[in-house]
Amino acid sequence: MSASQEDKFKKITAHCKEYGFVFPSSEIYDGLSAVYDYGPYGSELKNNIKSYWWKSMVQMHDNITGIDAAIFMHPKTWKASGHVDAFNDPLVDNKDSKKRYRADQLIEEAIDKIQAKADKEVEKARTRFGDSFDEALYRETNPRVSEYLSKVKEYTNRLHSSLSANDMEGLKSVIEDMEIADPDSGSRNWTEVRQFNLMFNTQLGNIAGEEGKLFLRPETAQGIFVNFLNVQKTTRQKIPFGIAQIGKAFRNEIVARQFIFRMREFEQMEMQYFVKPGDEMKWYEYWKEYRMRWHLALGTPQSSLRFHDHENLAHYANAAVDIQYEFPFGFRELEGIHSRTDFDLRSHQDLSGRKLQYFDPEVNENYIPYVVETSIGCDRMFLAMISQAYSEENVPDAEGQESQRVVLKLPAVLAPVKCAVLPLVRNKTELVELARKIQQNLKPLFICQYDDKDAIGRRYRRQDAIGTPFCVTVDFESLEDGKVTLRERDSLRQERIPIEAIGRIVEEKISWEQVFRNF
Ligand code: ATP
Repeated sequence: MSASQEDKFKKITAHCKEYGFVFPSSEIYDGLSAVYDYGPYGSELKNNIKSYWWKSMVQMHDNITGIDAAIFMHPKTWKASGHVDAFNDPLVDNKDSKKRYRADQLIEEAIDKIQAKADKEVEKARTRFGDSFDEALYRETNPRVSEYLSKVKEYTNRLHSSLSANDMEGLKSVIEDMEIADPDSGSRNWTEVRQFNLMFNTQLGNIAGEEGKLFLRPETAQGIFVNFLNVQKTTRQKIPFGIAQIGKAFRNEIVARQFIFRMREFEQMEMQYFVKPGDEMKWYEYWKEYRMRWHLALGTPQSSLRFHDHENLAHYANAAVDIQYEFPFGFRELEGIHSRTDFDLRSHQDLSGRKLQYFDPEVNENYIPYVVETSIGCDRMFLAMISQAYSEENVPDAEGQESQRVVLKLPAVLAPVKCAVLPLVRNKTELVELARKIQQNLKPLFICQYDDKDAIGRRYRRQDAIGTPFCVTVDFESLEDGKVTLRERDSLRQERIPIEAIGRIVEEKISWEQVFRNF
C-alpha cells in the first residue's frame, strides 16, 4: 500500500468511528481483534446494502425466494460439506516473536516484494531509455530482471502446488528457501507449518464430549442446501430456481487485519441457484454478468471493479470467479461466484441417507441439481461503499470562503439519512417550529433529521460527513413564501422549492425503482 493509500485508509477507519459508522467491539476493554460493532449510521447503511441485495435477488426474480436459517446446525452438516476436514489455513508460528502467520500469505508477500524489485528496475530503465524503451525485451534480456522474474515464477508455482497437494512441508521449505523473516521481529526461527481449522466451536449443555460439539457456521450456504427440498416443495418451484439468505458467519481467521475487510464474525449475502446438470456454465455466466451489473447500478465505476478467475479451484467447484474491488490497499475479493456442481447436495444425501433429488417433469427424471452460487460479504461491501464515497474537497462555505469538507458521496439509496431539515437560526421560534413541522411530515417517508446546533455551515458539514444527500434550510423568507432551500450534497446546488414538494423530490432520488429500472 502506498503512503497516500495508507493515509486514506487510516482516515476512512477514523471517520467510521468518529461519525458513528463502525466501532471496535467492546472498546472499553480495548476491543476484540477483528470484531466490530456497527453504530447508528453504520447500521442504517448496512441495512440499506442488505435491502438492495435482497430486492435484487428475491423481489426481482420470480424464481428466487429467501430463508433465514439458524446459525447452529447439526454437526454432521460440516462433515458433509468438507469443512471439518478441509476448511483449513496453513499456520506457522515464529518461535522468537510468538507471532502467528498464514504461511501462504507470508510467501505471497515475499513474492510480491521480488516482483516489486523487478518492476522498479523496469521503471528505472524506462526513464533511462525514454521513447525507444522496449519493455518486453528488457524483461526478458536484462539479467537482474529476468532472475527476479524467474524466482517469482518458481516460488509461485511451488506455493500453488504445495497448497493444492496440502503439502505443509513444501510450504515450510519455500519459507526457508526464500529466507522469509518475521515482518515483526526479523527472526527466521519458524515452527513447522500445520493446518489450522477455521471453524469456531462450542458445546451443547446437555450432551458431553464430541457428540455435543457444535460449530458456528463458517458460511450461510449450508443452511440453504439442507433446506433445498423444504423450499422447493413449499414454493413449488421448478428448476432453475434460487434460494437467498443473509446472515452471520464466523471464521477463526489466523491473521485478521484491514479493518472490516477480514473479520472473525461477519455477514454474508448468499444465493444458491439450483440448475439442471449440464446447464451450470450457462447460469454461471448469467450470474457473473448480473452480479457485476448489480455493482455498476450503484454508480461504482467499472475501473474499480474487475473479475478475477480462481487459480486453485475449491474441492467442490468446477468454475469460480471473484469480483474484486479496488480497496485502498489494492484490488481484493468482494464477492465470489462459484459453480459448485452437485457436491454439497450429494454429500448431504450420502451422509443423511435422505434423498435430495428433484423430479424434473420436463425430462421425466430424478436428479441431484447442480448449484451456481453468488456470495458477497456485507461488511466488505460496506467497506467498498465507504471507500468509494469518502472524499475531501475544497468548496466555498456559507460565506463564500474556500474551506475543506469531508463528504461521503454515497449513492442516495444507501445513505443512512436521506434528508436533514435545518432552521437557519435556532433562536427564532417560528423558524424552529416550521422546521420541526416539516421534519415531522417527512418522517413517514424516509429517515429525516432535524438539526439546529451551530452555524448553518457546520451543520452542512456534519450532514456531508455522514453522506446525507439533501439538506433543507428553513429561513425567514420561508415564513412568507412557503418555500425552502434544498441543497444537494455532491453538486452543492441550491434551489428554492415549495415545502410540499420536498417529499416528492427526495423520494424520487432515493427510490429503488429508479435503480432497478436502470439496472
Ligand atoms: P478470502 O479469500 O478473502 O478469505 P474467501 O474466498 O474465503 O475469502 P468465500 O468463502 O468465498 O471467501 O466467502 C464469500 C464472501 O464472504 C467473500 O467474497 C467475502 O466478501 C466474505 N468474507 C469471507 N471471509 C470474510 C471475513 N473473514 N471477513 C469479512 N468478509 C468475509
